[in-house]
Amino acid sequence: MGIKIQDLQQELKLSDSELSRYMGLAGVRIDEGVKRLQDKDAYRIKGLVRDSRRREAKKKELVRLPSIVSVRDFALKIELPVTEIIKQLLKNGVAATVNEDLDYETAAIIAQDLGYQTEENVTELEQDVLTPEKLAEILTKEDVEHQVSRPPVVTIMGHVDHGKTTLLDTIREANVAAGEAGGITQKITSYQAKKKGKLITFIDTPGHEAFEFMRKRGASLADVAILVVAADDGIKEQTKEAIRHAKAVDVPIIVAITKMDKPGADAEKVKRQLSELELVPEEYGGKTPVVPVSAVKGTGLDDLLDTILLVAEINEPKAITNRAALATVIESRRDSSVGVLAVVLIHAGTLHLGDNLVVGKTAGKVRRIISYDGRSLKEALPSMPVTIVGIQDLPDAGDILQAVEEQTEAREKAARVRTIKQITRHPVSAPVVKKPVELRSPGNRNEQPKEEPKDKIKKLNIVLKADTQGSLEAIRQTVMAMGDVEVVPQILSAGVGNITENDIMTAEPSKAIILGFNVNTASAAVRMADNGGVTIKSFKIIYELAEEVRQRLEDLLPPVIVREDLGKVAVLKVFFSIRGRQIVGGRVVNGIAKKKELVQIMRGDQLIATGKITELQQNKNEAETVKAGSECGITFEGNGKAKEGDSLMVYHEEVQKRKLGSNRVKVE
Ligand code: GDP
Repeated sequence: MGIKIQDLQQELKLSDSELSRYMGLAGVRIDEGVKRLQDKDAYRIKGLVRDSRRREAKKKELVRLPSIVSVRDFALKIELPVTEIIKQLLKNGVAATVNEDLDYETAAIIAQDLGYQTEENVTELEQDVLTPEKLAEILTKEDVEHQVSRPPVVTIMGHVDHGKTTLLDTIREANVAAGEAGGITQKITSYQAKKKGKLITFIDTPGHEAFEFMRKRGASLADVAILVVAADDGIKEQTKEAIRHAKAVDVPIIVAITKMDKPGADAEKVKRQLSELELVPEEYGGKTPVVPVSAVKGTGLDDLLDTILLVAEINEPKAITNRAALATVIESRRDSSVGVLAVVLIHAGTLHLGDNLVVGKTAGKVRRIISYDGRSLKEALPSMPVTIVGIQDLPDAGDILQAVEEQTEAREKAARVRTIKQITRHPVSAPVVKKPVELRSPGNRNEQPKEEPKDKIKKLNIVLKADTQGSLEAIRQTVMAMGDVEVVPQILSAGVGNITENDIMTAEPSKAIILGFNVNTASAAVRMADNGGVTIKSFKIIYELAEEVRQRLEDLLPPVIVREDLGKVAVLKVFFSIRGRQIVGGRVVNGIAKKKELVQIMRGDQLIATGKITELQQNKNEAETVKAGSECGITFEGNGKAKEGDSLMVYHEEVQKRKLGSNRVKVE
């Protein structure tokens, strides 16, 4: 029975070292003198060799991957077990499940780490999806000769509470004539202001905190970015982030130093801080226009508008008007009487009533165009923010709108895009490769992780509700970026509208938390949540919502136990000993002995028992601590007994909460 090892080696063409490696891998004991293998062991070795050779061959091929690929399909394509892919993703700081979608860049990095070569396989179908990047490309390539000037599009960014909203509102009040609301009370916060007979478009990007998302849209949205910095607060973390993102999309920055009326206002300090960030103010010899303003007093606003016009004049934003319209969805919501309302910004072409549309994965026909000041329009020109009625399904913020010739063309195109989008919904984006830092404690502390739940990812289940599609998308992006190697947020459902009983039903089984943004909670839902123990939290600031998520994620992280060695006591004499309790006399050799702290009894290198110091005496008096060099009496409670000549290691243990990203488990 069985097979001769030698024959197997010949059959598989293995060298001696390969043979022993495969035998090891197969868990076959290699005893001296054994010449035969059992059939099952031989089969196992053959299987291993076959797998390994197939992998090696695969590594020499170029693997073609689609722009979006699920973890499962990715594993199939490179012929590796899904678990290996998940493990490799984790090493790169991406926590993903089998069904999760990866974008090509992420998949390529992982493939490369594993030794595979890849290539992106962009199918024809995918070319139908107009991304902001592709849109930007189309717009820059367009026939320059027939382009005409269009108003500059301005976005406002900056740290929370530095006055973005107030500034937008104040400019609007002073420079926009209120029109007739055309029956639809759409809260449209993007508008056009008039200065010296020229128009300036202000775009309110909902959830400016979600910078990653804004950057994507920023690629095609803005001509000028206003960076708001409060004069009494200076540059903050989000300000820096805003600068990084504006620079990444290469949009000119104008700095508005806001709240100049406040007592602590210090514009000079802000300018110095700006200089340090390579935004040297013009008056310091740099290129960055800086305008001090007070929205409350209304000062500096004219200056700001003039500066915008100046910057715009240099860059001359232009577009073709006689082409089918191209636009981006800024926000969208469903209205109970007219259906879907979408606020879009026209980039090029003219949008007419009756135009057939493809909008992201849906289609439609323009039934109404409403201006930012509530007037019904027949058409909309480049740089205009308008609300349109007539789109079939709720589009996502950031979706591109295209006007097309035929209704059937619109429908077909939308249907094709829809199939692609079904595959591409919420891909896991390129990894934020956080190299997990191993915690190092100062001095003689060491880490004692309790149990190590390897590869076990905890999930924070979330049900999300927001007032608009734009803020919903922004929040989703922010929240999904917040995971860690050990905990990840998982959004069970996300929708536009108030919190209802339905949401409670979604949340309850998995103990999800319901997060609302600018929405109300139906009273029936409040009762149901109370009964079901479901937590609802509502926010008006995305940053605060994100903080809540961070807190809850950190609460899910198992704590670390940090040990601090305090001192060593040599046991000189044992006085008294009953079960679980012992009194010994000793000398503190180094450090200190301290009451109520923990002790290990060591006999040489061997740990005998652990316990706690319940009483401590020095010269027959009660003492809290006894220093090195002194003798002491120690009452020790624990599960073992000390003998003369043993050492007592005195130490302190603290349970510490962990922060996201501070990985206790080292990932190499
Ligand atoms: P955002 O989070 O950046 O949109 O900030 P807001 O516009 O909501 O403003 C935050 C706070 O600062 C609000 O209480 C505003 O009233 C206040 N604020 C904004 N602009 C000014 C200003 O020019 N002067 C003063 N004194 N307060 C301001």
